[in-house]
Amino acid sequence: MKRHFVFPVFILFSFFLFFGGSAAPDAPGPKYVFLFIGDGMGLAHVSLTEAYLAAKDGVHGSGNVSFTSFPVVGLVTTHSANRLVTCSSAAATALATGHKTNNNMLGVAPDSVTRYTALTYPLHKAGYRIGIATSVSIDHATPGGFYAQSVSRNRYYDIGSQAAGTGFEFFAGGGFIYPAGRTGDQPDIYAQLADAGYRIVRGPEGAAELSSGAGKAVLVQHEGKDNHSLPYAIDRGDDDLTLSQITRAAIRVLDNPRGFFAMIEGGKIDWAGHGNDAATIIHEVVDFSDAIAIAVEFYRRHPDETLILVTADHETGGLALGRDGSYSLLPTAYDEQSRSIDAAGKDRDALREAVREIDKKAHVAWTTGGHTGIMVPLYAIGAGSERFAGKLDNTDIPNRILAIMHQEWR
Ligand SMILES: [Zn+2]
Repeated sequence: MKRHFVFPVFILFSFFLFFGGSAAPDAPGPKYVFLFIGDGMGLAHVSLTEAYLAAKDGVHGSGNVSFTSFPVVGLVTTHSANRLVTCSSAAATALATGHKTNNNMLGVAPDSVTRYTALTYPLHKAGYRIGIATSVSIDHATPGGFYAQSVSRNRYYDIGSQAAGTGFEFFAGGGFIYPAGRTGDQPDIYAQLADAGYRIVRGPEGAAELSSGAGKAVLVQHEGKDNHSLPYAIDRGDDDLTLSQITRAAIRVLDNPRGFFAMIEGGKIDWAGHGNDAATIIHEVVDFSDAIAIAVEFYRRHPDETLILVTADHETGGLALGRDGSYSLLPTAYDEQSRSIDAAGKDRDALREAVREIDKKAHVAWTTGGHTGIMVPLYAIGAGSERFAGKLDNTDIPNRILAIMHQEWR
């Protein structure tokens, strides 16, 4: 009786020694990695959106965006080298290179000399295809952190003109803020990209054209549209490129047997946060969630080889759900608003005043038009996702991605 019991236990114990968790050095690790960054997306932004979705369904409580049900949740500290409240470029540097720098610097150390390498470079050298996509401009701080180095995040031309030399397979977003430099007399970034073998396509039709085996591609808004960003989801027209279209195109361009790394940013959650514009944030978070749902479809086809991470670079606005001593939250009050404050043109000031009144009805408040220093959530699913549980620093994220992919900084 005893012998029959001991032997299976020994087998079981040996099994755990060999295969005990995917943190073991020989675990295969993910081949396809998605890093979704909701710029400025704090827990309150996600919670407000989910409360809104539930209320729209007539449910008192919390609805579901695509990523909050992921099995692994972490909390991420976001301070920069010189401030407890980070900006997006210092945060992007941390998320891409694993190093802290000062606010406003991108991929460069506080000494302004030492350069930091983004994880995209060692991954590209190892044969992974690389995609960098955003709903703002490709030369903005968050996407820039994954391919460029500049002493100032405001040097948009300096940042954008580094794209062509990377050899990375996919760039997408609104466009470039200064394609020919601030004075218009620098070598054109689109021409540099074309010379480097990139196919440049525009708008939803361009996104649909990109197929697997597309080589290297750049996907931006139609000419004549705003090249600083895609429109907010709340303001969108039929001919506007969307983050979901970008995500589908990214997967088609990047998918290959060796694997890929894609950073996809929902960049305007932050912009609406700066404007304390909650209705616009709700639509942006839903839009970001829709893009992530496309990656989840991919994950379901390759569950053992795909990792999806969803996090933020910092919180924007000091968004609070509850105010003035009232135990209420009425998110459907935002249905009164049908466009963003930023898109209201000459009615901007009037709409801002109206939105402050809607905030009171919704019992929502703000502490700042800037960023805050609170930890941000991280949601993870798939191969290696357990390495992202618990309390993390933003610099841990690229280090852990490389570690589970068995790659080194080089
Ligand atoms: Zn911001």
